[in-house]
Amino acid sequence: MSRLYTEADVFCDESGSVWVGKVFTVAGFEKWLAEQKLTRRLLYVVDHHTWSPADEPSSPLSFCNRVQGIGTNYYWKKKSDGGRGWTWGYMPQLWLAVIKGEPYVTVGTHPSWAAPQCTHFNKEGLGIETWWNGDRERWTHPIHYGLWRIHKALEAWAGIPLTRAVTGPTNTNMPSGKKGWLFHRDARDSNKSCPGWKNDHDDLLSAWREYEKEDDVTPDEVRKIIREEMEIVWSDTVDRDQAYLVEQEIISAPRAKGKAASVSYVDSLLARVLKKAVGETPDPR
Ligand SMILES: [Zn+2]
Repeated sequence: MSRLYTEADVFCDESGSVWVGKVFTVAGFEKWLAEQKLTRRLLYVVDHHTWSPADEPSSPLSFCNRVQGIGTNYYWKKKSDGGRGWTWGYMPQLWLAVIKGEPYVTVGTHPSWAAPQCTHFNKEGLGIETWWNGDRERWTHPIHYGLWRIHKALEAWAGIPLTRAVTGPTNTNMPSGKKGWLFHRDARDSNKSCPGWKNDHDDLLSAWREYEKEDDVTPDEVRKIIREEMEIVWSDTVDRDQAYLVEQEIISAPRAKGKAASVSYVDSLLARVLKKAVGETPDPR
């Protein structure tokens, strides 16, 4: 019986076993990884997407169980039964899914064990599968952020920097000997779009650069960013969810389209949601 592991847990080294099968908060994963022995030469982090399934798991535990299910029903199933025929316990090492806006990490195969995930890069590489279809939609902020935290944890653990290991055209690259990350599709003979054509390297790098900056940002700067950037995002979300807000009796009628939602509007909306959550009736609006 598994459960969600957080930074409140105490961890020990599990590098003796191929299979881990645990789900963590990002902070929990960082703490767990720091306790693990690195018992192989690890140079590359390969970013993948699942493509299918890509629907949001209902809970962290369900996410973990579904990853194990992919092992049972696909990777470890006999080839004659439609599976891949791999030895039990071997699959991409790390899995990232966003559930209700929060990133979670499932560890499949232990990072100290090499596993099939990317031709030519298996022996010295480690795979991160994002639970996502990157051909349909580009990674969202929580995915970029989750990937950043995982890559930073791997940098601390194995000295793999957040720079690209290879930069040649899609489907051409061989191991360079230079530590870093790559997309699955960068590898020679991959013949894949993985992690999806909607994602590109520069997108990921520019998101990561922002997170590096935020590490030493002042409260005033945070407020400035919220004012300048978040209003547009909030506005989109609020516009899209008008019908839902009416249905939930948070507001009585949809607001005029095209009118940008200000911070104070979102703030008042939040107050109404909270009022409803404690069983009070929000004032008519
Ligand atoms: Zn892949």
